[in-house]
Amino acid sequence: MRVKGIAVLGSTGSIGCNTLRVVEALGEPFRIVALAARRNVAKLSEQIVRHRPLLVSVEDERCAEELRACLRVLGSTVEPRLLIGEQGLIEVATHEEASCVVAATVGAVGLVPTLRALEAGKRVALANKETLVMAGELVTRTARRSGAELLPIDSEHNALHQCLRGEDRAEVRRLILTASGGPFRACDREAMERATVEEAMRHPTWNMGTKVTIDSATLMNKGLEVIEAHWLFGFDADQIDVLIHPESVVHSMIELIDGSVIAQMGITDMRHAIQYALTYPQRLACTLPRLDLTRIGMLRFERPDVERFPSLTLAYRALRTGGTMPAVMNAANEEAVNAFLQGRLKLTEIARIVARVMERHAARAASSLDEILAADAWARRRATEEIGALGCNASAPV
Ligand code: MG
Repeated sequence: MRVKGIAVLGSTGSIGCNTLRVVEALGEPFRIVALAARRNVAKLSEQIVRHRPLLVSVEDERCAEELRACLRVLGSTVEPRLLIGEQGLIEVATHEEASCVVAATVGAVGLVPTLRALEAGKRVALANKETLVMAGELVTRTARRSGAELLPIDSEHNALHQCLRGEDRAEVRRLILTASGGPFRACDREAMERATVEEAMRHPTWNMGTKVTIDSATLMNKGLEVIEAHWLFGFDADQIDVLIHPESVVHSMIELIDGSVIAQMGITDMRHAIQYALTYPQRLACTLPRLDLTRIGMLRFERPDVERFPSLTLAYRALRTGGTMPAVMNAANEEAVNAFLQGRLKLTEIARIVARVMERHAARAASSLDEILAADAWARRRATEEIGALGCNASAPV
């Protein structure tokens, strides 16, 4: 079998590390050819020694220096080509020996490298949902033009991709995204107002990166996923529903026009979705634990509470408005989440900031990269101002 070269954008994050474990478990013909990370040079140097990539990229020259030092300490005999910055990310994403690029960076930084990978005809296994939320039209158009495949690693969309296999789209009535409900599913409004970063990071079922875990606590993650599902599968907002499912066993479902519902189930381990995206259309044996429904016993489903979780409504509104609005929502959310992590904002204020920035935005077409990046930059400035104003109010004497 031909070597299947894998490039990973964001190799030291949660999805990145799991991708390397999957590639190692699969063995030949899969191999890592290029890795990009930001600043975690200690972990990256271990990955280099273990996987011997041909090309590596880090955030800046200082990180590159530190990486060289780490490799010397480890007594590494591997010397990959070393690049930095966005150009480095792009070269990793378009490496000639990579047939599949795992896009697992967090936030907006993955957009341009992902577009370049698609232009180069690479299969993109997409974990970075922000890419599709910001630039869904541009990304899917780029993939169609070059014939590149876009395979979702996000567990819900990976499940939908599996459910939709072999189905005629005209016979699908709706997509049903499941959500665990996050750590505040059963909390009242007051408890959510007081939520600390530590509480928000305590996800009940999935072990994930910081940004996506906070987004899960506000349900913005599910909102972003509704938009992601629209672009991946071509269904309208009215045909995409969200159901709270605390056990996270059903990863998502489709309902057909005859009333039949097809669900994809599995354990909560991202390595399943990653392996599916790497080996598709083949399925290969996997050594992970199997789903044991007798141990779970009961599966519950509830409607989401949009009063306590207004982010979900904001995301539907952004999708229906279209154009630059989803990019604006996404950028404002990223800024607000960062402010929450730094203790400058309450958890419940994240949605308020996003709503205010969206209200002030007049959506325009989002068909070019320049238009999208301009909307993204505007929303970040605006969100920063709103966060600052809220901070002033909070500290003002009553
Ligand atoms: Mg997900």
